[in-house]
Amino acid sequence: MNKKKPKKKNVSKKINRVKKTKKLQAKKINKNKKEKEKEEKEEKEEEEIKEIKLEETDEEMEKREKEETKAKKGKIRWQTLRGMRDILPEEWRYWDYFLTRAEKLAESYGFERIETPILEEAALYERSTGASSDIIRKQMYSFRDKSGTPIALRPEITPSIARAYIEKGLFNRPQPVKFFYFGPNFRYERPQAGRYRQFYQFGLEILGSNEPISDAELIVFAKVLLETLGIKPFFYINSLGCSECREIYRKKIIKFLKGKRRQLCPDCQRRYRENPLRVLDCKNSRCQNILSVVPQFVNSLCPNCHEHFIEVLEYLDAANVSREINSYLVRGLDYYTNTVFEFFPAPKDKNDPALEIMGQMVPALGGGGRYNNLIKSFSGRDVPALGLSFGVDRIIEELKANHIPLPRGKKPVVFLAQIGKKARRQCLPLFETLRINDIKCAMNLAKESLKTQLEQADNLGVRFALILGSQEVQDETIIVRNMISGVQEHIPQNKLISYLKTILR
Ligand SMILES: [Zn+2]
Ligand SMILES: [Zn+2]
Repeated sequence: MNKKKPKKKNVSKKINRVKKTKKLQAKKINKNKKEKEKEEKEEKEEEEIKEIKLEETDEEMEKREKEETKAKKGKIRWQTLRGMRDILPEEWRYWDYFLTRAEKLAESYGFERIETPILEEAALYERSTGASSDIIRKQMYSFRDKSGTPIALRPEITPSIARAYIEKGLFNRPQPVKFFYFGPNFRYERPQAGRYRQFYQFGLEILGSNEPISDAELIVFAKVLLETLGIKPFFYINSLGCSECREIYRKKIIKFLKGKRRQLCPDCQRRYRENPLRVLDCKNSRCQNILSVVPQFVNSLCPNCHEHFIEVLEYLDAANVSREINSYLVRGLDYYTNTVFEFFPAPKDKNDPALEIMGQMVPALGGGGRYNNLIKSFSGRDVPALGLSFGVDRIIEELKANHIPLPRGKKPVVFLAQIGKKARRQCLPLFETLRINDIKCAMNLAKESLKTQLEQADNLGVRFALILGSQEVQDETIIVRNMISGVQEHIPQNKLISYLKTILR
């Protein structure tokens, strides 16, 4: 008795507290309504501001977000950071659809899964992705950890894989090694439809091959995977040559841009000084106008690089890949050499305006290329390599836009309902027996009312409900109720599985 007393007190205290809160809540309802209206108004205004400021610069965006964060402080309304999002179960069905197909295909092409950390030393990306690239200059989430080491959330995965290749001595394995990966990357970019600051990539890497057929293998893989998903892809391809032919082209493009320098956008004026090749993929319409008559990279390739590129194209034609050479394709990363490519949803017809300005109207579904000098720059070892990545967020958008039907999972055929504590105690072991025998069963142990449970069984469209009450527990039986006819039968529990297997056949 003594033990029970304090418990009771606690319970009654709790009840009082609940009552008080309820009263308070009732009072608050009116206030909440007003607050809600106010919030809605604020949200509307926020939307309007967003539209007006679409043309803001990156610096303006950073400043605005800083002020918005300041203004939010003190208000407790948790929400995801801008550009981040939750993937709820109904959304995950699309991801699952993509991932199961992508992983299966990668394995059948002989790729093995690799997993690397999300955090790395910031210098790893500065030395590979390129210190002058937009990704490193503006978008990388970098900070110091508690020991003061400069680290970064990975803006892409390839540098980590190159690091692992050297650190783990993977060059000792039979070459080439072929990996696939899936995971989140982080870039502080302007959020847009299908573009998030935490975005997901599925990708492939081949390390230790200089054969043109490897380039084609990646592109064919992308084609096959997208077609498997129900998306018809279109490929842009280009060659950036080796360091020798790149130097020749660099001189050509500097000569070409020299007189037009002042007409370039401010970003391109900087690019002109730091890495003139980057001017090529500027999305600014004024820059694109100037570039419409730019010398083509493919005309500056040395004999070796030229031959490599031609061979890649031949393999692609043999595999029926629809592609076009695009001289403006340089990709935003420093380490690319030779073949680079990006893929888009194929245009609905030839005049599709989406294709006119590459990447402006429709962001790429993915892309990749060779990085023959990356491992060398890390370790001195000459290891030609190449990779490909899919922008999974973008692909999911495309699946939705095309109304790709998702395959339905296996539906439950029985529903296990319980009445009373004794019955509930038997539910988990019984469920486990059903599961082992491959009988898909649903249940809701958190509900006590039989009516609620049977309604749920009805909504799920199961064929039979299994009902366990205290009488059945005592008799070691269970009620099997036909959900359509309503006919019920008592079955001994030890015969349940064989009985179900017969009637479910
Ligand atoms: Zn070359
Ligand atoms: Zn520009």
